[in-house]
Amino acid sequence: MNFANSQGANAGVGTVNPFLKKFPVRAACGAVIAIVVYLSAQAYLAFPSPDNIPSSVPTEPVKSQSELGNIPPLPRIDYDHPPAPRLVSHQIKPGDTLGALLGSFGTDERDINRIVTCRGECRQLHKLIPGATLITRLTHDSRLISVGQSLPYGQIQQYRVYPDSVEVTLSPLERRSIPTYKHVVIHDGESPISAALRTGGIKEATVLRATQILEYDIDFWRNVYPNDDFEIYFDQIFVNDEYVQDGDIHVLRFTNRGRLHEAYLHTDGLHYEADGSAIQKQFLKAPLRYKRISSNFSNARKHPILGYTRAHRGVDYAAPRGTPIRSTADGVVSSVVRNDRAAGNYLAVNHSNGYVTRYMHLSGFASGITNGTRVTRGSTIGYVGSTGLSTGPHLHYEVIKNGRHLNPLTVPNPSVESLEGPQRGLFLANVETYLNTLEGLREQNLIVEPVAVAQ
Ligand SMILES: [Zn+2]
Repeated sequence: MNFANSQGANAGVGTVNPFLKKFPVRAACGAVIAIVVYLSAQAYLAFPSPDNIPSSVPTEPVKSQSELGNIPPLPRIDYDHPPAPRLVSHQIKPGDTLGALLGSFGTDERDINRIVTCRGECRQLHKLIPGATLITRLTHDSRLISVGQSLPYGQIQQYRVYPDSVEVTLSPLERRSIPTYKHVVIHDGESPISAALRTGGIKEATVLRATQILEYDIDFWRNVYPNDDFEIYFDQIFVNDEYVQDGDIHVLRFTNRGRLHEAYLHTDGLHYEADGSAIQKQFLKAPLRYKRISSNFSNARKHPILGYTRAHRGVDYAAPRGTPIRSTADGVVSSVVRNDRAAGNYLAVNHSNGYVTRYMHLSGFASGITNGTRVTRGSTIGYVGSTGLSTGPHLHYEVIKNGRHLNPLTVPNPSVESLEGPQRGLFLANVETYLNTLEGLREQNLIVEPVAVAQ
């Protein structure tokens, strides 16, 4: 594999997010992905940020091209064989105990014992602070090197473990955001882009956030093709010179079948297209993670069970039974019907601008979904089944506007809110800086050859 990274790369390996480790994305269903994204986002948002820690971007200015010119050439890293030590960062929750956490990271029992039975100053670490981050360094064979927790007053309380003792140090917590650039060319279009990006050395949590930012325009699970080209410019966050996690995604540029999709971070924390128009659209591209489209929208087709020809007013998405189905836009549930002879279990959602979406053949509804329930774009409303007139598990999905059925795959998708006035001016200036920065990075020969994607 090949990839490029602007700097700080060698510090960025070996971090384990326990959630991601437990649930590899390829095997995970949509719900698990949603949970992982949620938890990762929570972990990220909840990173300790005492007032005296400088906040990261978007307020931080982007490095100029000349500054970036000083970056030394980067070592290539083999992500399949991450070098020791291993760094684990964990956001402390109420009820967490040091021994249990160290155990869950796979720490050697001898070291766990030494630290949980230590006396004197070291006992301070036995009081974990919920919300703080526990940062643990382990050797490749799981011996404890150090463990520390960030303290509310901007310091890190750290314990280094030696064969016969535990040494306590208290050091100021210095948090830095290092801009990082990666460029991946998709080689094998059959794989989800997440695999390609992971292969390129980008953390899964960041890949998932990237796909969420662009999912209004691209169905990342299906519509990725050979030679599609992905650039990402994001922050890696370091605490006391140790990589902790990825931060903001500043720029995403994804060329999908020759068409460029762009996203740039604004100071309001949202991403916009290069001209300041909103990326968030009213509708998601697809209501679920599906295997294939088993039947397209058409005005006339032979019904597989009824035998006669009639219009198919929606799209059929084949997917395993139980796959979560998401509302494609914000709205209010307008009907919940059980065991309809044709549609089986189905529900309809009313949206703004005169749109209605309908979801049929469900195995069941998400908890709390009844007539009148308010749903947000992307929230789970039900699960794939094969109820009613259906030959196998699939979702029949319809989009209706003012009483007329539209093809869900080509429905016009209005933008939510675009930037205007002075905010747009500020944004456009930032985009220019971003683009200059990226150009500089590309010129440094950081562009890489196509990535071979494992199936
Ligand atoms: Zn259908």
